[in-house]
Amino acid sequence: MSRFFLPGPTEVGHEVLAAMTRPMIGHRGSEMSEILAGCDPVLRAIFRTERPVYVASSSATGLMEGAVRNGVRRRALALTNGAFSERFRDLVADCGREVETYEVDWGEAHEPEELHRRLRAGGFDAVTFAHSETSTGVLNPLRDLAEAVRTAEGETGDEILLLVDGVTSVGGSLVEMDAWGLDFLLTGSQKAMALPPGLAFGAASERMMARAATLTGRGQYFDLLEYDRYWRKHQTPTTPALSLVYALAEQARRIDAEGVEARAARHDAMRERCLRWAAERGERWGLSAYAPAGRRSPTVTTLAVDGPVAAPEIVARLKRAGWTIGGGYGKLRDTTIRIGHMGDHTVEGLDALLAATEEVLG
Ligand SMILES: *Cc1c(COP(=O)(O)O)cnc(C)c1O
Repeated sequence: MSRFFLPGPTEVGHEVLAAMTRPMIGHRGSEMSEILAGCDPVLRAIFRTERPVYVASSSATGLMEGAVRNGVRRRALALTNGAFSERFRDLVADCGREVETYEVDWGEAHEPEELHRRLRAGGFDAVTFAHSETSTGVLNPLRDLAEAVRTAEGETGDEILLLVDGVTSVGGSLVEMDAWGLDFLLTGSQKAMALPPGLAFGAASERMMARAATLTGRGQYFDLLEYDRYWRKHQTPTTPALSLVYALAEQARRIDAEGVEARAARHDAMRERCLRWAAERGERWGLSAYAPAGRRSPTVTTLAVDGPVAAPEIVARLKRAGWTIGGGYGKLRDTTIRIGHMGDHTVEGLDALLAATEEVLG
């Protein structure tokens, strides 16, 4: 059973790793197209969309940049509440666009009413944020935030694209790209998809593709129009990370066999298990949920540590006992720990980790 509970990269199944040892094939041949065509319906089921899901050979940050280059015309509102949403914000400026920040403290979520108020002032053509902020374990209320964007669009007449970092939500929860009206949704292979690092997946709405066609400076590597042109042949614009695509094909089969709804339910159960453990057993070690109730990620639980054993020491003791969890991220390093319960992990596996944690805490 896995003892590896980092919030990314996550444990990868043996069959998936084994698939990567297959010999190389030509990436413009029919065999390659068949492999990608086989992955496509599963990826669209995971993204809850009828739109194409593009496969990029990069880490997730690559498609965050792609989102900006293809989706922000002049000025974006960036919602920040942790390290990854801050990275998204910084990327907007790096790509030469104006950006205004709607910042809330690390550990907090954004409010749809406040988002609406800020957008109503006008002048924004895109919004960026992280659905599940992996640095804090906060889950933003995506459906309500999306609705606030749509309402503001109606009032201002601005076309405001919603660009969502779903890196630790897609594949671990039901992120309804079509039903919630998201314009760009992206994830990386090494989080809830339980693949090795190195691939990123992204889907764009039709209106985002229409906007992209009018933007200059989309660059080469993340030009969504090129991705779309090649997607129609079930290919990628440049040589894909072939071994990772083999792994994807295998993992797509496994995800399809479980079903995306069952997969989401399993993640919800792991979150609840982790939170209940902290509530019932954590007090004597000063452990408590860091994110506010109702705003807790299904894939990563951040626990505030204010007790006899300091946060980095908990991580170190588990490490010595053969278990890996995530330390606090950045400025939360000394005061929190993070348990990644995503990908192929199970409630039973998580129980074993929690028991081991009690043991090392003494
Ligand atoms: C891990 C992560 C990223 C960055 O992913 P890379 O694959 O390292 O580029 C971005 N956003 C979130 C929410 C993440 O968890």
